[in-house]
Amino acid sequence: MDSMTFVLFGATGDLAKRKIFSALYNLFLDGKMPNSFSIIGLGRREWSDYTFQIHVEQSIKTFSRRSINNSLKMEKFLDAFRYCSLDVTEYEGYKKLLETIERREEQLGLPENRIFYLSVAPEFVDVITSNIKDSGLSSKKGWKRLIIEKPFGHDLKSALELNEKLSRTFEEEEIYRIDHYLGKPMVQNLEGLEFSNPVLKAFMNNQYIANVQITASETVGVEERSDYYDQAGAIRDMFQNHLLQLLMVTAMHLPNKLSAREVGNEKRRIMEFLRPLGNKGVITDVIRGQYVSGEIDGRPVVGYKEEPGIENSSTNDTFIAARLWIDDALWSGVPFYIRTGKRMKEKLTRVVIEFKNPLKDLNMLQHDVMTPNLLVIQISPNEGVSLQLNMKNPLTNQIEPISTEFSASPKNVPEAYELLLFDALRGDSTFFTHWKEVELSWRWVQPILESFEENSLPLHPYRSGSMGPDASYELLQEDGFNWWDL
Ligand code: NAD
Repeated sequence: MDSMTFVLFGATGDLAKRKIFSALYNLFLDGKMPNSFSIIGLGRREWSDYTFQIHVEQSIKTFSRRSINNSLKMEKFLDAFRYCSLDVTEYEGYKKLLETIERREEQLGLPENRIFYLSVAPEFVDVITSNIKDSGLSSKKGWKRLIIEKPFGHDLKSALELNEKLSRTFEEEEIYRIDHYLGKPMVQNLEGLEFSNPVLKAFMNNQYIANVQITASETVGVEERSDYYDQAGAIRDMFQNHLLQLLMVTAMHLPNKLSAREVGNEKRRIMEFLRPLGNKGVITDVIRGQYVSGEIDGRPVVGYKEEPGIENSSTNDTFIAARLWIDDALWSGVPFYIRTGKRMKEKLTRVVIEFKNPLKDLNMLQHDVMTPNLLVIQISPNEGVSLQLNMKNPLTNQIEPISTEFSASPKNVPEAYELLLFDALRGDSTFFTHWKEVELSWRWVQPILESFEENSLPLHPYRSGSMGPDASYELLQEDGFNWWDL
């Protein structure tokens, strides 16, 4: 792995504290950092290097999945950190930053390889990347990479504009757009699962699969993020990015090679074959919901409109369910159902692949008592794969479901940010979101955004602690299916 400088904008912020420092530290302990590296943290506060290093150490102690028991290693790790106070909107500060970077490069004998991680609010992305270019930070002698967080735009137009601005400083191959769902170990395992199990590959098509269900449910409400969330809703916060990415990785055809380019091509292909909704599709295939009061884990909770910072007139979506169709040779005729929401019964992310029921198709008597085969991929909080099969019970002579648990991840697996940062450090963008995927995702959701804006779609209330509004169940019942709330 190349030696490099890691420049962290927003180093005093929440994401850095909770995720980024620990991820870098765990990579360091696992020998997955370059032999030589420099980390420059940036924030508006006037901190010394020492204050920053203490902050990094405290953050790791609080949030790392591993306990800290090697102070020498920690000391060596912290020694790589320097701090530079900078207002990202002021050009002059970038000159000072460049001096700090170059001084460290010289001291440590580092090549001019630089990663810029923008852990800041999205409105700063444009000004930071322009200043990186104008100040000469984006050196030509080594490589440069840009890591950015979601959201990437708030609709198609703003995403196109942002991408155009970024492309003035960075090539597409240099941009690493984080979608932390793609960093979850089970999501990263999906391709390998199919690749190493021809039995699964053989069945993943419309000959055998009846429907696919993707659920990402949360038990939390809007929390302290009311300003952001009331503008974003579930459609922007979860659906356009994480859920459509899960759809792509679940449905994509297995490429011949698991390279970033080939995986990216296959994911893009899925989005290209995704049937556009149009105005009619939004009405027939999309369910919008908003939570009302109820109970979570036996504790009473208020409804969305009673949350601090939310207007009583808010029509924001805290739940969304949709039926999607991929009109290609493999998946044509198989509905994909997606749902996500806040204040739901359980916190989980799961893909359920329901197989066709041959007895049902043959109209045999037993069909209504037989459960279809299910391939269940648990993504979080627990990870694992199970396959539900049917066996005749010799005692009752009835066909009954049995479940085969294929795998469950061991404890202490690397976190999403560790896997993703390791990939970014070594220049592998397979599990990052590429521009075409972002663009096609916004294009697909755009009619939904418009209908929400016009308030032309019913807003279904659902009880906190439920799995969403009745209308989301009716969506599947229209096709003769049900959500598998396992
Ligand atoms: P935060 O508000 O805690 O931190 C923002 C950082 O930006 C701080 O370090 C602050 O000093 C800095 N900043 C703000 N204005 C500045 C200026 N003018 N000049 C210099 N620095 C300035 O935000 P966060 O929660 O760390 O989120 C950062 C990014 O990550 C956002 O884009 C967010 O959407 C994204 N994100 C965060 C999380 C999370 O769990 N926190 C999860 C996913 C994505």
